[in-house]
Amino acid sequence: MKKTVRDIEVKDRKVIVRCDFNVPLKDGIITDDTRITAALPTIRYLMDNGAAVILMSHLGRPDGNADMKFTLEPVAKRLSELLEKKVIFASSPLVVDENIRKQADTLKPGQVMLLENVRFRKEETKNDSKFSKELASLADIFVNDAFGTAHRAHASTAGIASYLPAVSGFLIEKEIEFLGNAVENPVRPFVAIMGGAKVGDKISVIDNLLKKVDTLIIGGGMSYTFYKALGYEIGTSILDEASIDLADDLLKKASLSGVKMMLPVDVVCGKEFKNETDTLICGSREIPADMMGMDIGPETVELYKEQIESAGTVVWNGPMGVFEMENFARGTYEIARALSESDAVTVIGGGDSAAAVEQFGLADKMTHISTGGGASLEFLEGKELPGVAVLEDK
Ligand code: ADP
Ligand code: MG
Repeated sequence: MKKTVRDIEVKDRKVIVRCDFNVPLKDGIITDDTRITAALPTIRYLMDNGAAVILMSHLGRPDGNADMKFTLEPVAKRLSELLEKKVIFASSPLVVDENIRKQADTLKPGQVMLLENVRFRKEETKNDSKFSKELASLADIFVNDAFGTAHRAHASTAGIASYLPAVSGFLIEKEIEFLGNAVENPVRPFVAIMGGAKVGDKISVIDNLLKKVDTLIIGGGMSYTFYKALGYEIGTSILDEASIDLADDLLKKASLSGVKMMLPVDVVCGKEFKNETDTLICGSREIPADMMGMDIGPETVELYKEQIESAGTVVWNGPMGVFEMENFARGTYEIARALSESDAVTVIGGGDSAAAVEQFGLADKMTHISTGGGASLEFLEGKELPGVAVLEDK
């Protein structure tokens, strides 16, 4: 168990918090402030408990340059509105300099300041010790609350912890609790549902989950690489050629370890990769040469729903089909709905799966939706995330 802000005295201390304010921007306007609102509980807790709060984050990929297209100023404004309190925007192309140090020095308990985009400094992504020290010099305590970048060892996510007591914020605490418990302490039967475009990206996740789950369900674009490994014809379906052998290994591992591994038994095919196209529902071995599998079929939906209905825990990563196109969204929708109606612990990881659940309006019916795409995948791979590893143990 990692220490959290609750386990450390923050009164009259300066606390530097790594947030994930990597919000989508269009012409300098924030188009979705979910990540900012998600950070509020930790910020409010620190303010209410008498800490002076210094926030830092990255935004986009300025690649080590002070590219003002990626300034965090709009985030400071939005944050001020949400907190109903002025957030001091500590603007410096160097992120930390003499002037910023003075501003941090005079920051009072209950006040909040936001540093400029940490990726304005090329040292950030190199986990450079000098930049880590500069950041650490502003504060007495480091709080990591950016789960989305916890799989990266950067100066603001990992390096800084060498120079300050380090604890987690509420977001990371929640991620560790739900992802960690789902995988290490699952209520059984434990069902994992894997989908998405490429198997290659997810081989190690499947490999790790095979050691933990009772049932492994496959859907989405990765199904066709498994079909290929089994010798089926897959028409023009998406194929991850380089992963055919690995897919074959996974099928063998599953049967050796007694995990029930399920592939779609029927497929919704499309002639072209677009919404308005000729479609056909066929068995998994009957995909025509000139068509591609774009969703799981209705029979598969029923079989997968049965597994979900009797599950104790379901971890889901990766859509069942091309859910962005209405005509191929049904499989993903039906699985999402089954999850929303189930009594099981339901955990969603992966950016597109989370977006799908959100799009269907079912997000609040899930036990937990992970905010970290890559980070949640690495967690499911059983890897220790650098940004979590550096935090103090309880
Ligand atoms: P996540 O972000 O949840 O981890 P991925 O990024 O792995 O998921 O995969 C999501 C993408 O997979 C979606 O854009 C979806 O359109 C695509 N996809 C799903 N099924 C298919 C398919 N049969 N053919 C092509 N692409 C697919
Ligand atoms: Mg994705």
